[in-house]
Amino acid sequence: MTPEYRVGHGLDSHRLVPGRPLLIGGVTVPGSPRGPEAHSDGDVLLHAVADALLSCFALGDIGKIFPPSDPAHAGLDSRVIVAAVLQRVRARAPGAVLVNVAAVVTLDAPKLGPLRENVAQSVAGLLGLAPEDVGLTFKTSEGLAPDHVQASVTLLAIVV
Ligand SMILES: [Zn+2]
Repeated sequence: MTPEYRVGHGLDSHRLVPGRPLLIGGVTVPGSPRGPEAHSDGDVLLHAVADALLSCFALGDIGKIFPPSDPAHAGLDSRVIVAAVLQRVRARAPGAVLVNVAAVVTLDAPKLGPLRENVAQSVAGLLGLAPEDVGLTFKTSEGLAPDHVQASVTLLAIVV
């Protein structure tokens, strides 16, 4: 049987505020004086991954599954969000296999380059992929959005 190819895309941003840890793909960025203002832990990369997975199978978005208005989700670990989304994907498409993830993270400071392997490993581990299947592009906003962290994620799945 010819496999069905499906693409998903997710985008997430948060404002950076003092006194919050900065998490990217489940990895804490050391030495960051600021982190995301968010109801959950504000991990932009995992939020974009979760939305990309949902978008891939037309399952809605994480705002629908984890409404920010629900106090039970305060401080939520975004790895839990990704795990819950994966469960929904498996229920919808039991034959789905993820192929690769391509992510762009935009952050002016600190530089994320030194964390590339850690972040790829962390995201790959959550998704059952190999680290070389997680492409990470780190960009700055060129000073246009210094108080902002953003992630955009595209992923490919096949359904056999
Ligand atoms: Zn978010």
